[in-house]
Amino acid sequence: MPELPEVDTLRVSLARDMPGRRIKAAAVTNGRVVRRHKSAKDFRALVEGRTIKSVERLGKYLVFGLDNASHLVVHLGMSGQLRRAKGPREPKPTHTHVVFTLSPAGELRFVDPRTFGELFVSTPPEAGEEPPLSSFARLSIGGDGLDLRRRVPELAHLGLDPFMDQIGWDRFAVITRSRSTALKVFLTDQDIVAGIGNIYGDEILYHAGLRPARPADSLSSVEIRRLHRSIPEILSDAIKYGGSTLPDEQFVDPDGKPGTYQEHHQVYNREGLPCYQCRTPIERITLRQRGSYFCPKCQS
Ligand SMILES: [Zn+2]
Repeated sequence: MPELPEVDTLRVSLARDMPGRRIKAAAVTNGRVVRRHKSAKDFRALVEGRTIKSVERLGKYLVFGLDNASHLVVHLGMSGQLRRAKGPREPKPTHTHVVFTLSPAGELRFVDPRTFGELFVSTPPEAGEEPPLSSFARLSIGGDGLDLRRRVPELAHLGLDPFMDQIGWDRFAVITRSRSTALKVFLTDQDIVAGIGNIYGDEILYHAGLRPARPADSLSSVEIRRLHRSIPEILSDAIKYGGSTLPDEQFVDPDGKPGTYQEHHQVYNREGLPCYQCRTPIERITLRQRGSYFCPKCQS
């Protein structure tokens, strides 16, 4: 499933050429991907004729700002892709569910074999009305995250975004100390920290030297500082490599290029293989039905 680094790879790429383009038409061939709207027709009416002003990201959501202050929000689900095309003559990948015809030229296509992804248009709240913001995000002391949540109420509940919200380790400690859940579950709960999933949860905990099953409230100050530092470090590293593309999943950038960070995974999906640091075989445990990988020697 695409996580923050994959979605950010799309953001950076699309921010280069989408702002200033007008959505001439939106063809929806699978209504399931616009399921928040009454019909595909309703969705189309909200985007057609609008000009894209900006491309942002919060957690695993990609957010296109439109010229009437509404936002087109995209979630890739398990296997979603956003692909650029020069025009209608370019062959469509199977499972293309939405095609945006852009002006002056080009198309943006939403492709999703498993159809867990979705697109919706968010209309801004009335003046003076504030959506219920995440109490964790409220602890942030800077960044654009709170502003984006105020503009897109559907995302207001999202927990701290490691790049859109700024939070010092001391405030982060207030959160870890308030939770007794396993660290892996804590990190991948989108209402606490937004954007981290199974892969980066494991990689961050390895980097921080912490076992995935450790209760969040059992961390010492030194350990909290290490975890707080590892989150942006691992995620920025993954963004540098264009995210991870696993053999059974299909993440690619808007031009169809896969990421290469999977070549740098230290523990994810490496059960039984030697740790790159200490040669101890990597172990796998199950937490909330998801496999978690760790080194029993490097992580405590
Ligand atoms: Zn090790």
